[in-house]
This record gives sequence, C-alpha cells and structure tokens, in this order.
Amino acid sequence: MSLSPINDDTATLLGEIRHNWTRQEILELFNMPFMDLLFEAQSIHRTHFDPNKVQLSQLCSIKTGGCAEDCKYCPQSARYDTGLKASKMIEVNRVVEQAQQAKDAGATRYCMGAAWRDLKDRDMDQICAMIEGVKDLGMESCVTLGMLTEAQIGRFKQSGLDYYNHNVDTSEEYYKEIITTRSYQDRLDTISRVRDAGINVCSGGIIGMGEQETDRAGMLQTLANMEKHPDSVPINKLVQVKGTPLYDDGIDEIENFDFIRTIAVARIMMPKAYVRLSAGRESMDKLMQSYCFMAGANSMFYGEKLLTTPNPVKNKDMELLTELGMSPEGHVMSHQDMAKEAKLTDKIVPLKVGGHQEFDPAIAYNSRADQPIQQ
Ligand code: SF4
Repeated sequence: MSLSPINDDTATLLGEIRHNWTRQEILELFNMPFMDLLFEAQSIHRTHFDPNKVQLSQLCSIKTGGCAEDCKYCPQSARYDTGLKASKMIEVNRVVEQAQQAKDAGATRYCMGAAWRDLKDRDMDQICAMIEGVKDLGMESCVTLGMLTEAQIGRFKQSGLDYYNHNVDTSEEYYKEIITTRSYQDRLDTISRVRDAGINVCSGGIIGMGEQETDRAGMLQTLANMEKHPDSVPINKLVQVKGTPLYDDGIDEIENFDFIRTIAVARIMMPKAYVRLSAGRESMDKLMQSYCFMAGANSMFYGEKLLTTPNPVKNKDMELLTELGMSPEGHVMSHQDMAKEAKLTDKIVPLKVGGHQEFDPAIAYNSRADQPIQQ
C-alpha cells in the first residue's frame, strides 16, 4: 500500500478497499502521469495477486442473435442488420463437450451467454443442466442471460452457479445514449439480486463507445461503490460491427493509452477484483496486452470467438503468456480427474510393489496429444 501522489490535500491511501469514490478523485487518478499510474496499479496488484498468473475464461454463445434490446454496440440486436443469423439455444451436451475442450486448453471458468432481454422460465431446466455439466468438469460456471427474477437466481444458486455476468456498460449519464430499452437501474437491481443470493458478480463495461473520460470514471465509480466490489470486472474495448449504430456513427477507436489507463484505474479502485481483458483483445498487439497486464489486468477471455466477435486464437495467447513468463491460474481438478487419478494410483501401486497388471489403454496418457487416449 502506498500514498497517492495525487496532491497533498487529498492524499489517498491507495490499495484500500473503498466504496465511496467521488468522480473528482477518479478523474485525478485518470490524470496521473502515466508511469506513476502504472506503478501504483502494479504495486496494488502485487499485494493481492501473483503478477505472473492470468485467469482464463472461455465464453460460449448458447443462443445467438435475435435480441429485442437496442444496445447500440451489439450485433445480436434484431433491430440492426449485421448479417448475423439468429439461432436457437444449443444442446446441453454440446455445451459440456466444448467446456471440456476449454478446460483441456487451460480455461478454469466457462461462461455461457444468451442474447435476450431476460430469462424465460421455460429455459431454466436446460440452463441449469448446462451449469451442472460445467461444474461436474470441475470448472467454475458463469452465465450471462440478461435480467433475472429472484426465483431464477435461487435455482441457479442450487445448481452451483459461481458467477453471473451483467455489465453496467458505461456511466449512468452516457448509458441513455447507448441503450433505451432498459434502464441503468434495471441493471443495478439485477446485480444486487445476484449478489444478495451469494453468487459472485461479474460486471464491467465497454470502452470506446464515444464516451468521455468522465463516463469511464463514472462506470468505475458505479462498480467500485457497490456494497461489494464485483468479483470480476471485464473491460471490453468496443469492436465496431458493421450495421450497428456505433459503427455507422463512425466513432474513433479509443487510444491505447486511454484503454490502459482505464484498466489501471479499475485495478486501483477494486484491488481484489479480477480485471478482465474481454472483447477487443483481437485488435491489441502483444505489447498492448502486456501493458494491460502491467496495469493490473489478470484475467482474459480465451478462445476463438467472443459471442459474435473474434478473439485471438488460443495458441497465440499461450505464446504471449510464455513470452512474458506468465501462466494460467490454477487448474481445478474435476471429479472425473480425481476418479482417473485414483484409478491410476490403484494400478500403479501394485506394479511398484512387484505385482503384475495388464496394460490398460483406458488409463494410458498420450503425452504428444496431451490428451488421455480414452476418457
Ligand atoms: S447486449 Fe445483450 S441485451 Fe443488448 S442487444 Fe446484445 S444480446 Fe441483447
């Protein structure tokens, strides 16, 4: 923990968990000399996290397109002609298969997203089965499904849901420029219900939608002044998709420095949250992503697609982490893994003590493919 160099009168103890940030204080953080800001953010980051670990999540679109909402950035809104084909909800076993592949590639959390305003009760059984399937793999589960009722949240809790994603997107003031079909307060209410049910909150926003610095500050103010900081804070860089109003408005792409500053301020204001690089990482080169890690990002979406926009391919991500001497944060062992390990131990122990055992291909491990020959 260190003293902020903001100014002598308002020196703030950085690294403190606070829920009373003023807009002015946050703007002062945004306007710190770049190197000082990065240093403070990295110092705080190191007091709570291993700076060389990154949490990997993978996102799966379980129901794409055809959404009735009017979020100006979103190619999934039925109101915009983006060429995206709407699809029905995918089957549970496909989701679980893909989650297994994500786990094999190093992801510890599997996030499932559906394009709709709010969740219908008729879809609950299917979604609970997906959550349970992901949990059985030993992964953390996350869903993003719009607005929820208390009863729906209660069922998700029983199914073992770890995280619910619901972004505030931007500041309360700028929100009205981006979405008119539901209010900022609707979002905050859903987030409160999720938190009150004891489910971890994942909430962040999108940078580069034509907002001002004060809106970025306002978004972080909303998040940090919640009664508990969100456990995960995804910071998306707008991916402009042709046909969406934000593309048609011809908004300038956000400057890298502004994006990095937003990550650093998020880290300072929410010292224990996982700050996640989300959409828009495709357009960031290795150096830019490294600066984001330096500024305190310690989580990223991993895999080839982020709902409907591209994401760097997995091996490129791994190459970058290796180059930086970083690695994915802990792999969680599933019940299946534990059963397999117990089975292996049962087979190996008699061999070690001189017993004989037939070769069993079911437990052999193919190191070249880094996959069990047979599950
Ligand atoms: S962001 Fe979500 S709610 Fe908004 S249009 Fe896209 S899918 Fe619908």
